[in-house]
Order: sequence, then structure tokens, then C-alpha cells
Amino acid sequence: MERQRKFEHITLGQRVLFGTGNAAEHLAGEVERLDAKRVMVITSARQRPEAERIIADIDPVLIHDEVAPHVSIGQAENARNVAINNGIDLLVSIGGGSTTGLSKAIALKTDLPIVAIPTTYAGSEATNVWGLTESSRKTTGVDDRVLPVTVIYDAALTLSLPKEVSIASGMNALAHCIDSMWAPRTDPINQALALDGIRTLSKALPAISNDPNDLAGREQALYGSYLSAVAFASAGSGLHHKICHVLGGRWNMPHAQTHAVVLPYVLAFNAPAAQGAAHRIADALSAENAVDGLNSLRAAVGAPTALKDLGLSAEGINEAVQLILPAIPASNPRRVTEENLTALLGAAHAGTSPGSMC
Ligand code: NAD
Repeated sequence: MERQRKFEHITLGQRVLFGTGNAAEHLAGEVERLDAKRVMVITSARQRPEAERIIADIDPVLIHDEVAPHVSIGQAENARNVAINNGIDLLVSIGGGSTTGLSKAIALKTDLPIVAIPTTYAGSEATNVWGLTESSRKTTGVDDRVLPVTVIYDAALTLSLPKEVSIASGMNALAHCIDSMWAPRTDPINQALALDGIRTLSKALPAISNDPNDLAGREQALYGSYLSAVAFASAGSGLHHKICHVLGGRWNMPHAQTHAVVLPYVLAFNAPAAQGAAHRIADALSAENAVDGLNSLRAAVGAPTALKDLGLSAEGINEAVQLILPAIPASNPRRVTEENLTALLGAAHAGTSPGSMC
């Protein structure tokens, strides 16, 4: 029997309520349980009609719908002032990672509790990680004040997420799982969550791709995204996340799509140096080999394939390499150099076969 190596694991405390069609009821119950009197709802303008339906049974002070991707410092300060000036005692976030991110930016300085109702598979609701962007640089940090006290999962709310965005967002969740296998604080517990996340997502995403109205597939994707986020929150950011943070912040690239493109290249890069993890990833993907398994899944669901389609120019690669290199965790199983990182980004930019990285 294999010996269990020494490790330290931290499990974050939050309440999770999962139920399709139950968001409004669960939210009303949480507002009562938390004895909140002055609720601020944060949602995007696009999702406001859906949010108004979910909050029908509560009586919020206001709805703040100035949400944009990659939360900027100015946007965060504005929302924070709205919360303070209105004597808010609870934040309710209804939307994707950008909406959750804005709520976290308010909580970071005000210590207000958040009830998060996610509508994508980004997973931010289950992490204590915040992100802010200023002058094209994304800064992230870890602070327990930004961890939502409660997450309300309702797969019916994800039915309106367009198929392409759903697939990219699901690949973002898969990236949390795969990167957790070699991230700085990887351990047997977050690996178990990550591998079950891979198993769940690798079945859910083809189901959604075949039929975006498949509610069972949507439920599984939402469940898998929660597992992936808990794994990521515990294991920390690995090579994949360091690359995507730089690209997203510097070139304002779409978050989920960027993760979807970069993931197979990072897996192909690290797999030869992390064979134990690669075997377990392959097994979770029901494939002979992890890289082939991920490539097949990516093709089957029609995930985006090239960074050049997402706003990165070939001239930007050198700058990206210089920005990413200092951020790479020492734990990465393969040594990252200027040369091999340039090759990785060049291949991801062009969309050439990730298998050729091995
Ligand atoms: P997003 O929140 O920007 O949403 C993408 C688009 O989909 C938006 O236009 C949004 O209005 C729309 N949308 C969301 N849900 C919808 C639905 N159900 N129906 C129709 N439209 C819907 O994108 P995202 O990928 O969810 O989140 C990305 C952001 O989250 C980034 O800023 C990223 O850094 C952050 N993030 C943070 C963490 C963390 O742990 N802190 C983890 C993952 C992502």
C-alpha cells in the first residue's frame, strides 16, 4: 500500500444549498437566517430581469448592476461606496465570476457577508480569492472576508448561458481541477476533489454541447464546477492560472475562453514531468492518456482553440512571457524557461496540436 505523505489541508467553511428551481426560496431562507435587513443585490444589467425574479421574496434596498469583466479598482470603489452609503448589511451576488468578483471587492474592505448565486461554472463563489485590475495588471489575493457565507446553486439559472460560453466556462472549471494536481498546496484531499470534478465535468460538458437545455447535464456541470473551485481554493494557483491571469489582465481577454485554450497546452507541457498526476487525470477522463483525453473532449464539445482568436497578437507573446515567468510557482513539476514558455504560448496562440508539446 502506498504511504500517505505529510500534508496540511485547510477546508474553507461555507454553506452550500443545491437545488434546481429553488434559488428564490433558498435566498429568502438565507436572508432570514442571517437576519439581514438591508440587502444590496449585485448583478449585471443583462441578468437583471432574472435577478428580479429570484429576489421576488426578499425586499432589497437596491440593485447594483454596474458589472464588467475583470473588476477594475474604480468599479470596486464605486460599488463599495454605494454599499457604505446605504448602510448595507448583506450582499447578494447573482451572476457569473465577474459579478461574484465585484461582490468580493466590496466585502474585502467592508467585511460584509455575501450570499452568492452563481450562473456560470467559474467557481469564484467557493474560493477566498479576490482579483482586481488596474492599468492592465490583474492583482489577486487571498482573504477569508471575500468567501461567500452561502452559495445557492440552481442549475435552471444556467440554461440561459449561451452554449459556447457554457463550454468555455466548463473548461475553466476543468482547468481548476487539472491545475490543482500540481499547484503549490496540492494534497490528497484537494486532488480527490479535483479528480471527481474532472470525472463529472467530462460527462457534463458533452451533454450540454449535445443539448444546452439538458438540465441533468447542467446540474452535473454546476456540481463539478463547485468541486473544481473547492480544489482550486485549497491547492492554489498553478502554472495554468498564472498564465491566464497575466493574459486576462494585460490584454483584457475573455476569462473562460482563455482558460479553455491554454489548458491543453499546460497539460501537455507538464504531463511528462508529472506522470502520476497525468495517469490519474487520464483515468478521470476515461482515456488512455491525459493529453489525448483532454484533446478529444475539447474537440467533442467545440471548445475554442487559439489565443489569436481571443485578442492576443503574436507580438504580445514576448511581453506575456516576461510577465508570466516571475509568477511561476516553484512547485511546477517541469522547469519553465523563457524558451519553453515562449513555445507553449506560441502553440496556444496559433492553435497547433497540444500533443506536440510533449
Ligand atoms: P462573466 O461573469 O464575465 O460572465 C460572462 C458573460 O456571461 C457575461 O456577459 C454575463 O453577463 C453572462 N452571463 C453569466 N451568466 C449568465 C446566464 N446564466 N445566462 C446568460 N448570460 C449569462 O464570466 P465568468 O467566466 O463567469 O467569470 C470570469 C471572472 O471571474 C473573471 O474576472 C475571473 O477572474 C473571475 N474568477 C474568479 C475566481 C476566483 O476564485 N476569484 C475564479 C474564477 C473566475
